[in-house]
Amino acid sequence: MTQDEIFMARALALAAQAAREGDEPFGAVLVRDGRIVAEGKNRIHTRHDPTYHAELGLVRDYCAASGVTELSGCTLYSSCEPCFMCAGALVWARLGRLVFGAYDRDYCAIRGFVPNDCSKLIFDLSPAAPEAAGGVLRAEGVALLESYFDPARGALPARRP
Ligand SMILES: [Zn+2]
Repeated sequence: MTQDEIFMARALALAAQAAREGDEPFGAVLVRDGRIVAEGKNRIHTRHDPTYHAELGLVRDYCAASGVTELSGCTLYSSCEPCFMCAGALVWARLGRLVFGAYDRDYCAIRGFVPNDCSKLIFDLSPAAPEAAGGVLRAEGVALLESYFDPARGALPARRP
């Protein structure tokens, strides 16, 4: 496994844990100087906070706990491509690098949503966006999303916008 795959595997494990705990299957880890300094999970249901996505929750909690407001020396690993809200937050946090697993297009295909390139759209419009790479352990990320969201697999019914 590459270094990116090792950290992505941890983000995926957190995503699976979030689903087991009653939230949605999204996880993230923050890495600085080659080690994990923070972990995040989707918490929208257990915290009754629709903005508590894995990435945004991690940034908010880590920055508050460590007394920092910018993450230029960090890499964030996210099990799925960050949404518009989280991608915007990563810009404001001045994140150095983003690595994600499944693409938003993968997620939208499973949910029956209109596909988009949400993080790329936000980053392309931003003056200081992180370096970004997607598709790390993509198949594993997609399988996790399918296991939760795909009605054919007995999970939640897909909603259409
Ligand atoms: Zn998000």
